[in-house]
Amino acid sequence: MTAVHAPGVPVIEDGELVSTHPATGAEAGRFAVADADDVRRSVARGAEAARWWAGLGHAGRRQRLLRWRALIANRLTEIAELINREGGKPVADGIVETTAAIEHIDWAARNARRVLGPRRVRSRLVLAEFSAHLEYQPYGVVGVIGPWNYPVVTPLGSIAYALAAGNAVVFKPSEYTPAVGQWLADTFAEVVPEHPVLQVVHGLGDVGAALCRSGVAKVAFTGSTATGKKVMAACAETLTPVLIEAGGKDAMIVDADANLDAAAEACVWGGLMNAGQTCIGIERVYAVEPVYDAFLAKVVERAQRLTVGDGPEAQIGPITMPSQIEIIRRHIDDAVARGGRAVLGGPDAVRPPYVHPTILVDVPEDAAAVREETFGPTLTVKKVRDADEAVTLANALPYGLGGSVFGRRRAMAIARRLRSGMAAVNSTITFVGMSTLPFGGVGDSGFGRIHGDDGLREFGRAKAITKRRGPSLLPAMTFERTPKQVGLIARTIKMLYGRG
Ligand code: NDP
Repeated sequence: MTAVHAPGVPVIEDGELVSTHPATGAEAGRFAVADADDVRRSVARGAEAARWWAGLGHAGRRQRLLRWRALIANRLTEIAELINREGGKPVADGIVETTAAIEHIDWAARNARRVLGPRRVRSRLVLAEFSAHLEYQPYGVVGVIGPWNYPVVTPLGSIAYALAAGNAVVFKPSEYTPAVGQWLADTFAEVVPEHPVLQVVHGLGDVGAALCRSGVAKVAFTGSTATGKKVMAACAETLTPVLIEAGGKDAMIVDADANLDAAAEACVWGGLMNAGQTCIGIERVYAVEPVYDAFLAKVVERAQRLTVGDGPEAQIGPITMPSQIEIIRRHIDDAVARGGRAVLGGPDAVRPPYVHPTILVDVPEDAAAVREETFGPTLTVKKVRDADEAVTLANALPYGLGGSVFGRRRAMAIARRLRSGMAAVNSTITFVGMSTLPFGGVGDSGFGRIHGDDGLREFGRAKAITKRRGPSLLPAMTFERTPKQVGLIARTIKMLYGRG
């Protein structure tokens, strides 16, 4: 008998994880739940697959990753529709998300050899008789734990780079998006059928915890800060290195010389798309006094035009995780109770499974709506004296993921001063699609980087080799050195480094 499920709430039924649409409750798929032994077995199979995959070399992996990229590009609509069926995200947004992921697969595949491959580096005078060699070798099996809000681009930020670096991957998708995770592994297996180089293990949080303890050589985690701490604690038991991509509370700063139409358009997009369920989404806005009123009016005018619902025309879909609705409600209610005003939406905007666009002003800076990750289609907008005050307030939280600055003369300088891993000037979020740039946070937003050269190096161990190319003029590292030679070494070092 098939049970009736609360829409969007994943349940385990007969050993299977059942994934449902957050608005309609329609089943999106069911998948066998792994236990700790299953996870360990997957990692053991992955270790064998990793040896084969590493043995293909950069050229072999590049060819296969580019084939996978082509397959996903050709089935773009299929995956966007699956993202919609499972998480409620509008299909257009799923297409945009997958486009960014395709870009990353392409870039990682094409650049892995340049960034990670063997190379000579310069020797120094004191060890001139040795040549120096550097390469980045794969870890083996990397465990990837992903969230539900961007079920393609977020895990692929780790998976594509880990694969390009020569690792096998065991991926634990969020319990809210197992079907998308399975689709990624199935399509990869279509182009790499020989070995299980990319595997998926399904289940609830305990399966993620089991993956941390399964003997993987590295864990790449994307999710909330609270879970990130648990992942680190589990990995600490075995000194397993971790990459933590955690939450954020990104700010936008609007300076006096900003193009207000462009700023308002980007603010509404950056804050409200994907119903605000974006780690690098804009949640707080600081606009300088001379432009505040005009900017706010433009934001409200645009935000109130957005369509909310589940149909093909909807721009704001349902909240994927039903429990998040109470957090969004608490933030809005608390903001209003503490003197904030809703210039659009407000407490009545929370109509499960939807939250309608809500713009809050005059919210105290210590309110939950300003300090905590809301993850809903809400924005707080605050009037500030000048850009300096905006930077101080933007930097006042423990989070530090991305950020956005609108302005002309001072915009780049302000972007540099934001305490964050990324910033966008006269746009929002755009850094996530720029595969040449690293992506990651500071503070409570995590550490380590995906994307770009740094993202490839994150999945390779630096291997350093020195090779003798001649006899030592100053033999230091041998018991056979003479007192005279040691004296010569000391005089040489003084001559080289003793001045200045
Ligand atoms: P969670 O932290 O709840 O879950 C993330 C993943 O961790 C899920 O697969 C989850 O499994 C798994 N997990 C849960 N408990 C454990 C555990 N004890 N050990 C190991 N793994 C565990 O985050 P959400 O899925 O709710 O994702 C939203 C969060 O992700 C937001 O905070 C958002 O800001 C952040 N995020 C960060 C990004 C970045 O790049 N910095 C990008 C996208 C999102 P299960 O779902 O089964 O519980």
